[in-house]
Amino acid sequence: MDLPHLNELETLRALIAESPIPIGLYVGPEMHIAVVNKAILQTWDRDESVIGKTFHDALPELNSQPFEKLLEQVYSTGVAYHASEDRVDLVVGGKLQIFYFNFTYQPLKYKNGKVWGILNTATDVTAQVMARQKLVEAEERLRLALDSADLGTWSINAHTKKTFPSARTKELFGFESDEEMSFEASINAVAEDYRDKVIATIDRAFTEGGSYDTEYPIINVRNGKQRWVRSTGKVYYDADNKPNNFSGVIMDITDRKEEEIRKNDFIAMVSHELKTPLTSIKSYIQISLIKVKKQGDEFLENALSKADKQIVKMTKMIRGFLDLAKLESGKISIQPEQFDIELLVKETVNDIQFISDSHFFEVTGCGPLMVNADRYKIGQVIENFLSNAMKYSPKETIIEVKCNVADNHAVVSVVDKGIGVKQKDQEKLFNRFYRVDNDIIKNVAGFGIGLYIAGEIIQLHNGRIWVESEEFEGAIFSFSLPLAQA
Ligand code: ADP
Repeated sequence: MDLPHLNELETLRALIAESPIPIGLYVGPEMHIAVVNKAILQTWDRDESVIGKTFHDALPELNSQPFEKLLEQVYSTGVAYHASEDRVDLVVGGKLQIFYFNFTYQPLKYKNGKVWGILNTATDVTAQVMARQKLVEAEERLRLALDSADLGTWSINAHTKKTFPSARTKELFGFESDEEMSFEASINAVAEDYRDKVIATIDRAFTEGGSYDTEYPIINVRNGKQRWVRSTGKVYYDADNKPNNFSGVIMDITDRKEEEIRKNDFIAMVSHELKTPLTSIKSYIQISLIKVKKQGDEFLENALSKADKQIVKMTKMIRGFLDLAKLESGKISIQPEQFDIELLVKETVNDIQFISDSHFFEVTGCGPLMVNADRYKIGQVIENFLSNAMKYSPKETIIEVKCNVADNHAVVSVVDKGIGVKQKDQEKLFNRFYRVDNDIIKNVAGFGIGLYIAGEIIQLHNGRIWVESEEFEGAIFSFSLPLAQA
């Protein structure tokens, strides 16, 4: 075997031994292992007895793998081989295991260019490769789940608004999978009546964070057909806590939405039809009341005024359903005017006391507070808070109505001493048809639409609505509205 100058080999041996990187030096065409360091012995799970053996004999499990051939090739051509994340199956701990290495077979040459050995350096990248494989598998599973649920995905860069829709998302909007779909194009595809609302919801997600969940119709740019979609997403932040990207999923909900619209139309029609006979019953009762008062029949007068109160209750229920239908079809609008909210609070308390005298009302802290809002609809919100306070607290307890100013907003709160609301239910109270699931609530009449309508009304005024409560400790329902500019 031809060997280089002995001094040269000794220098190499010292360098290799010190290196924390696994290194081996093989000499001659048979690849005799001349030098190895601790790191490579550890990688191979062998001891120093491999020194002097051929690569073939020292690592028999590699015989059926491509490495001997590669070494031969480097030896004969003098051209180095660089492997990137190559799989190497090694017997470690007594069993054959899979590893991944970045490694180099570097030819070592005499001055005349003839190769005399190969320097093998290696880095174990098994952990990275495995982690990436797991990620790829997870992505694959996610893609399968998305495909089988017919979900599209999207992502919007917070800075550039560049949009990255999946093929399914593009298909929903009417774009081919290889066609570009910009942020503007996706907004323009939203049905006109809903466009401003969608833009405002996206802006809110960017400025306020949290999650985003909205439903709207889109007009397919290719065939002009309308489909309803539900889009849910979340804003992700960078290390400086600035919005980085906004991404989520989108799904076709046309069938469900059309069913809902039919149901809504039906509720609206029934409620509307009920209003007319109810109005005439009310006027008959009122005329009869006037007559009976003159005749002095106390029993009849009492019965008729009770009937009158029941009619007021029923009219309110029907109004609730009509409002719900209007909200669902996006037809509710605000007619703002300047008014004093204190006066409205007092009027509403008086109205409610007319229907029932079961509780004591206390209005505190209100001075004249001017707001610019829809007086009638804000009255509805206060009324809903008051009637809930009555429904969900024991008779003859006090219901307090407070007004405050905070951060340039008027805040109205209704405080009761009733059954309260558990923390976990509090967010959901403002959802459509949500009623807390317990025996007390089951025995109280209601449809779970009052707070939903209240929430939507307050949102249309750019206000806030919330509840503070503990179970069995009473509840404070509040809303805030921007104060009118002086
Ligand atoms: P409804 O009272 O007709 O069920 P709402 O939408 O007004 O509908 O209220 C939704 C639910 O919120 C109620 O069913 C009840 O569970 C809960 N809730 C509302 N107000 C109160 C209150 N003051 N105290 C305790 N629970 C309340």
